Amino acid sequence: MTTPALARAAALDAADPLHSYRDLFVGAQDSSIPAYLDGNSLGRPLRASLDRIKAFIVEDWGGRLIRGWDEQWFDMPIAMGDMLAATVLGAAAGQTTIGDSTTVLLYKLARGALAMRPGRTEIVVDRDNFPTDRYVLESIAHDLGLTLRWIESDPRGGVDAQELAAAVSERTALVVLSHVAYRSAYLLDAAAAAQVTHDAGALLLLDLCHSVGSVPLELDSWGVDFAVGCTYKYLNGGPGSPAFAYVRAEYLDDFRQPVWGWMGRDQPFEMAQGYEPAQGIRRMLSGTPPILGMLAIQDTLELIGTAGMAAVRAKSVALTGYALELVREHLVPLGAEISSPLEPERRGGHLMIDHPRFAELTAKLWNRGVIPDFRPPRGLRLGLSPLSTSFREVTVGIIAVREELVRSDQPAL
Ligand SMILES: *Cc1c(COP(=O)(O)O)cnc(C)c1O
Repeated sequence: MTTPALARAAALDAADPLHSYRDLFVGAQDSSIPAYLDGNSLGRPLRASLDRIKAFIVEDWGGRLIRGWDEQWFDMPIAMGDMLAATVLGAAAGQTTIGDSTTVLLYKLARGALAMRPGRTEIVVDRDNFPTDRYVLESIAHDLGLTLRWIESDPRGGVDAQELAAAVSERTALVVLSHVAYRSAYLLDAAAAAQVTHDAGALLLLDLCHSVGSVPLELDSWGVDFAVGCTYKYLNGGPGSPAFAYVRAEYLDDFRQPVWGWMGRDQPFEMAQGYEPAQGIRRMLSGTPPILGMLAIQDTLELIGTAGMAAVRAKSVALTGYALELVREHLVPLGAEISSPLEPERRGGHLMIDHPRFAELTAKLWNRGVIPDFRPPRGLRLGLSPLSTSFREVTVGIIAVREELVRSDQPAL
């Protein structure tokens, strides 16, 4: 291990105003995991969530039993949606709900949005969008007889306003883009995308999975029409924790999603004949909401509320900037290529680096407790979660990648 690099990391950690937050996470001191660089795929749990979930099981579930629905749980998808909207989405109350997975909410939002643009025949999406987004849209286009208009985006970058303007037309009903690209971390100019989309008379649905909790969002002022995102990445909700959906207030009276379940009906406990959508954002619901899965998200939202999104983003930019420096110094000379934007204002919270050996190296890194993600065909993704990742972790991780690359350069004996 190179001591100067570690000394520099120690100085950066000491100067980092969010450094002490790391100790609030379960397992942050576990020496068998010297570098967790995948908090953008599955965030670490907070200690506070341990207490919250235990108290919920004993007091709320065990103590209140079915009465809990009347007392608290029935309203929780909307109450938690409002908390999320205020803390991290830049959205006023009454437009956000929690439940289902990102995949399912994306389907419900896209179908609802398309119903608002009858007669238009195209959905615009980019080739490097996350697989579930592409597949869900393929399914919808197949069922409704629509055409997918693909933007051939740069896998090292993303979609810019000119490319989007060239793809939309009077045929476009809906544009679906990721705000931060899952591969390159390219950060979309969402306000410009909304403008270009609206100029064509279409609607914009943003996937926020890789930006929520890492990049400040201003959904209301950017003019975004619909948004979806997951809560188990930077929001540390735990494996399979429910997603969120945002529907701009002006559409709510007319918006109809396709899964007409009893929990999204007006007055569900009347058990009446015929579906009538509930008032407001509640109509996004279909079945019984996943209350247990919503618990841990609250702890991260409280923490972000304390730190402030500006400080979270500042740490995130510092982490990716530092990681870029180390990659240039230690990995580029060994043949690695940087596949993320170099300008911090166009970059989200992770970094993508490519090398032909990364597929084979990832298992070796995981074995030594250095845990980045691999994305085919040859990309190593370094996820740097601003509340839980230290500069030391970044250093230890990148030096470990260098050691493995050097080792795999040696001919087998
Ligand atoms: C992680 C991720 C998803 C995940 O969707 P699920 O339904 O939760 O599996 C969707 N979109 C993007 C951009 C993602 O990064």
